[in-house]
Amino acid sequence: MKIDLHAHSSWSDGSETVENLFREAKKREVDVVALTDHDTTRGWAEAREIAAELGIGFVPGIEITTRAHPAGEKSFGVHLLAYMPDPNNEALSSSLENTLRLREERLAQMFELIRAEYDLDWQDVLDQLRNGATHGRPSIAAAMVSKGHFASTADVFNDLWAPGSAFYIPNKDVVDTIDAIRLVVAAGGVPIIAHPMSRGKGPEVGEAMPVAHFEEMIAAGLAGFEVDHRDVPPHAQKWLLEMAAKHDLIVTGSSDYHGNRKPNLLGENTTSPEMLERIIAQATGAKAQL
Ligand code: AMP
Ligand code: FE
Ligand code: FE
Ligand code: ZN
Repeated sequence: MKIDLHAHSSWSDGSETVENLFREAKKREVDVVALTDHDTTRGWAEAREIAAELGIGFVPGIEITTRAHPAGEKSFGVHLLAYMPDPNNEALSSSLENTLRLREERLAQMFELIRAEYDLDWQDVLDQLRNGATHGRPSIAAAMVSKGHFASTADVFNDLWAPGSAFYIPNKDVVDTIDAIRLVVAAGGVPIIAHPMSRGKGPEVGEAMPVAHFEEMIAAGLAGFEVDHRDVPPHAQKWLLEMAAKHDLIVTGSSDYHGNRKPNLLGENTTSPEMLERIIAQATGAKAQL
């Protein structure tokens, strides 16, 4: 049983339509897929249809852009997976709308910085962004590749947006992580932190782990961690598993598929059927379709 609970379509920053994403899942013999586009539920209806047609299970999800503000420390971005929340919940949907607007402003600002140094038009970016899709950096990255400035989107991230880059603007002013956890729970969803402590955001081996901070999130209703993910370093995985055992949390594994914009392959990491059952048992919002 292959259960992959994290995948992006062209409704956010994936290269593939929802239909092609599920066809790819079929090819790779994935049995259950959660569609988790950034800050949007736009692909859910289409996913239900194509998943039923192909005989694949579907779990509705969102990857919410949040920012954590631990006391006395620097704030940092946290991606929060929300499984099966009620998409019509007023508080949750207005928070998502706000983030979508902030993302549009931020992408336009980043584009201006880049345009000052590279030959790039806003239309080149729009060409990589489906109408109505969540705005994100991969659209600029793909545009930079199409203009011949870089060989791959990975190169754009590694070079143009290397740490400390003058061309980078974070997603600021988005919902606080703890507030987002509460919003998801109130909407009947199950909040799980995506790729925790990935990409050098977290402490290195031997450094203190942010225990108090995670315990605050757990107290707010955090249901679990995405542990098996290519961006979660092994020392963090071990620590997260111990933390999950201590607090009886859900742990998941997922690909974070983005089509051809990332090397991640559907089904490269998976979640156990027991853990999926726990997610479904906790959710009181949208229904999964298995
Ligand atoms: P944003 O949320 O707009 O800052 O964009 C972050 C997104 O960029 C992530 O969700 C990934 O889809 C993508 N991304 C991050 N790092 C890389 C990378 N090294 N190569 C390709 N895509 C990446
Ligand atoms: Fe993404
Ligand atoms: Fe993410
Ligand atoms: Zn993701």
